[in-house]
Amino acid sequence: MSSGAKRFPASLKAATSPQRELLMPQRHLHQATVDAARLARPNGKTTGTGLDSGAVRQRMVARLRAEGKFDERVLAAMAAAPRHEFVDSALAAQAYEDTALPIGHGQTISKPSVVAHMLGLLMAGAGARRHGSLGRVLEIGTGCGYQAAVLALLARQVTSIERLQGLHDKAKLNLQRVALPRAPRLVWGDGRVGHAASGPFDSIVAAAGGEDIPHAWMEQLAPGGRLVAPTAAAGRGQVLVVLDHVVEGGVGRWVRSEHEAVLFVPLKSGVV
Ligand code: SAH
Repeated sequence: MSSGAKRFPASLKAATSPQRELLMPQRHLHQATVDAARLARPNGKTTGTGLDSGAVRQRMVARLRAEGKFDERVLAAMAAAPRHEFVDSALAAQAYEDTALPIGHGQTISKPSVVAHMLGLLMAGAGARRHGSLGRVLEIGTGCGYQAAVLALLARQVTSIERLQGLHDKAKLNLQRVALPRAPRLVWGDGRVGHAASGPFDSIVAAAGGEDIPHAWMEQLAPGGRLVAPTAAAGRGQVLVVLDHVVEGGVGRWVRSEHEAVLFVPLKSGVV
């Protein structure tokens, strides 16, 4: 692991001290690029071994499992999703380290431990617990498509939105190379408006952080559904927010809880 990468607190409790450690799924792009250059050999080959065998991937999952705090079904999906297919070949040797990596267009692929944690929060929602599946999922921020691939192994249907056309196109190509039980539906658009035509959703997960939870996401969250999104919280910077759509006696309400401090790329408006 590079010196720039940070681990999140073992307790997963809200961290409030000024020296708090952050979940940093999108490590600073500059640092990620510097690390990539350091690890790439001058002749263009990269360090690392056995990338195609799956053994390296199994070791990554074994390391996450040893931490004892991740959902086993999520780990099984990550054991099946070839993360190296979603990063540039020059970075493939690092694909199974617990680190964020640049994916072009100024964005990064999330750290595996962050993906495991967020999808674990989704799996712990009332609907997912009842059905053993994430059901219909909306992902905001497709990026390179890796998390969409993991989601496809845990859900009935995945819709993933990306505002950068270059990344939307890249994710499409990446996902075509990977065998999945059902292909995610990829949308080029502003994810802040959600995707009503594909909803309502049992699970919504955002890979970019905004000032608040867009109203459209709440409207498109099905009863019993759960949303996980990095969001600004008063006095705490960005935290992971979990929102449950609870229905009791025929009346729906949204129950919000705030989790640990995180640092995701910003949720931006418009498409590029
Ligand atoms: N899940 C991705 C992580 C991508 S990083 C992966 O596995 O690689 C977050 C992504 O959110 C970036 O690609 C960024 O362009 C995108 N994003 C930011 N604001 C957005 C918005 N309003 N709608 C859709 N995508 C957005």
